[in-house]
Amino acid sequence: MTNYWWSEKIAPGYLHSYEVTPLYEERTPHQHLLILKNRFWGRFLVLDGVVQLTEGDEFIYHEMLVHVPLTVVSKEPQSVLIIGGGDGGSLREILRYPSIERVVQIEVDEAVFRACQKYLREISGDFDDPRVQLIFGDGASYVASEEVKSHPFDVVLVDCTDPVGPAKILFEEDFYRHVREALTPWGVMVQQASLPRTIPHVMPMAYRRTRRVFPQVGIYRAPVPTYGDEIAFVLASKLEVDLRRPQRQVSGRYYNPEVHQASFALPTWWQDLLKTP
Ligand code: SAM
Repeated sequence: MTNYWWSEKIAPGYLHSYEVTPLYEERTPHQHLLILKNRFWGRFLVLDGVVQLTEGDEFIYHEMLVHVPLTVVSKEPQSVLIIGGGDGGSLREILRYPSIERVVQIEVDEAVFRACQKYLREISGDFDDPRVQLIFGDGASYVASEEVKSHPFDVVLVDCTDPVGPAKILFEEDFYRHVREALTPWGVMVQQASLPRTIPHVMPMAYRRTRRVFPQVGIYRAPVPTYGDEIAFVLASKLEVDLRRPQRQVSGRYYNPEVHQASFALPTWWQDLLKTP
């Protein structure tokens, strides 16, 4: 296959360009899916023109998405619901906890799962693990179901795309209310809240809406080079706990307890952005 230069438009006048070998392309019922390969970043997944993960820096995103909530939840985490995350990177990190007994994952787009299992298998957790149940469908409807309320989760992890298309509903206040009800009394929710520099409305919106629903909410950040800037995460807890302080020791390639604590220190312009109505 011939190489060519492919670009993601990060913002008007700002492109990230990669010399790529195309591996796979599909127009799924939900989005346009591309798997490309680059000499520096390795294989990567693109949805609707937006880089979702690369082999070279996915560990930063997945370790921060998973280990911050799983180390602050006050009881040993036994059950986790993943919404989205069809690539399996979040599952990989969750299965590192010996206390885990049940992981349910709901991904809206089966094609993402299939393509990632074929082309990005190395980064995925084991979906054949007997503790794991994979469902294809909309995470918002699932979290509102009676079935979920009768079997609540210690952690709900919203590993979704930005709030356009199928993920828009995952940033609504109603969705957060259903998540709260789907959590154990000590449960926590985490969600990626986009890139404050290039997509500035998402973080304050997620923060404002989660604060109406949860007694305690914090924002933390991680630098993921191929996203173009630091990404924000919103962490919401049903109990008032110190979100900056891990209750258990975990160390990854990026995550460690010092990084955990430091990631809650927000630049002044992020603090100002969070005050916007
Ligand atoms: N790492 C990425 C990022 O933040 O840039 C996110 C990972 S990507 C695999 C997110 C996944 O969320 C996609 O596979 C998409 O199909 C899925 N998704 C979007 N909306 C969803 C919904 N309503 N229910 C379940 N999954 C959804």
